[in-house]
Amino acid sequence: MTDLHTLSIVGLAEGLRRREYSAAELTQHFMERISKSNTLLNAVITLAEEQAAATAEQADVRIAAGDAEPLTGIPLLHKDIFCTDGIRTSCGSKMLDAFIAPYDATVVARLSAAGAVMLGKTNMDEFAMGSSNEASYYGPVRNPWDIERVPGGSSGGSAAVVAARLAPAATGSDTGGSIRQPAALCGVTGLKPTYGRISRYGMVAFASSLDQAGTLSADARDAALLLNVMAGFDQRDSTSIDHPVPDYTAILDNSLDGLKIGIAEEFFDAGLDDGVASQVQAAIRQLEVLGASIKNISLPHMKVSVATYYVVASAECSSNLSRMDGVRFGYRCENPKDPGDMYARSRSKGFGAEVKRRIMIGTYVLSAGFYDAYYLKAQRVRRVIADDFKRAFDDVDLIVGPTTPETAFTLNEKASDPIRMYLSDIYTIAANLAGLPAMSIPCGFSQGLPVGLHLIGNLFDEARLLNVAHQYQRHTDWHSRVPERFLQEIP
Ligand code: GLN
Repeated sequence: MTDLHTLSIVGLAEGLRRREYSAAELTQHFMERISKSNTLLNAVITLAEEQAAATAEQADVRIAAGDAEPLTGIPLLHKDIFCTDGIRTSCGSKMLDAFIAPYDATVVARLSAAGAVMLGKTNMDEFAMGSSNEASYYGPVRNPWDIERVPGGSSGGSAAVVAARLAPAATGSDTGGSIRQPAALCGVTGLKPTYGRISRYGMVAFASSLDQAGTLSADARDAALLLNVMAGFDQRDSTSIDHPVPDYTAILDNSLDGLKIGIAEEFFDAGLDDGVASQVQAAIRQLEVLGASIKNISLPHMKVSVATYYVVASAECSSNLSRMDGVRFGYRCENPKDPGDMYARSRSKGFGAEVKRRIMIGTYVLSAGFYDAYYLKAQRVRRVIADDFKRAFDDVDLIVGPTTPETAFTLNEKASDPIRMYLSDIYTIAANLAGLPAMSIPCGFSQGLPVGLHLIGNLFDEARLLNVAHQYQRHTDWHSRVPERFLQEIP
């Protein structure tokens, strides 16, 4: 019982089926781990104890009846960007500190219907804007590998809970790297599917043309099980794509013989840390040993992806966040004199500094006179970046490189320098601009800190990404490493 947290979802589900423990006991085990370590990590901002106990009980009934699905009775946490019926959805913001959604996001509803047990909600950068999780109204999350360091962001809470095995998995969202970057910095497996693959219904909107829900888990096989449930058309999201959902576990065991991997020179630029580069090179050699062949490619417009993203994402967020006006949602200032005063003071006090910065940039690039020069131009560049990938995928099956330029940085190191912070996503952003599926998987350590290997696939090629990740994980054990103090029972 005591080392249940070292098992993957697949392992936990086997134990449940064999009745070695109940879903109620499993829930209890992980709840205790969260309670004991949360002062240290600050990764969980809301616990759903009653609801979790009730769901676990129902799961036990299903298991006893022989009616269990792969996720029935499996505990997990949701990033606090997903609306949860009756349980606070703050999006890491003072603005929504008291907001209780009257419905579940589609992601939440689907996982619940499959029998997964929601333990609570994870901390995140306010409105998913950030790369370090220092921009949360609830304070920073700490990296389980070194608590003086950031876990990455914006899904830093979700990455930290999986790294410390406070839950076997968590959901996340990725607009420019927010699943993959914290996955890399915390040494877990993160999957951002194709844009439109998972419904955005009930996921608080940051930049609607880039936002995509996904998973943080210990390994690729668990990610496949989660994606099986989360993926699929949803008529309540107009950007959800009606494309068949395969069984993502079906080709996990395929051999990598004949796989063509592209290595883009742009991913190995001067900004890449040597320790990260050498782990990534070793991982690429391992993929060659497993049967893949390597081809050098070029994505010439990668270098403008960060600039393009900060125009597009800021523009969309300035529009999306205009609904937070003190009228319908969230925080309202005290004693407003008139509506103008109410909007201004509610927004000034409800939003944090980074969110305000983005809204101002976004409003500027959308304003008359600047629209053509910035927003329209950025949209054109976005297409050119997508075309680079399209050409590359004529020759290769997938593109591999580092997820981040460096390992986890220390708290406060970049918090006052937005440009340096923005560059944390230099390798991840292009996949969002092009709508492509991508993953980060653990591929080693540099000075004791995890390094992530970035895999980018062609549109709707999640099954192949998962296959490659799983084969790599069958032959390496980086993904099963847990920081020492979280390995045993937490005192
Ligand atoms: N770090 C990027 C940003 O701050 C990406 C965030 C995300 O993917 N949600 O916008």
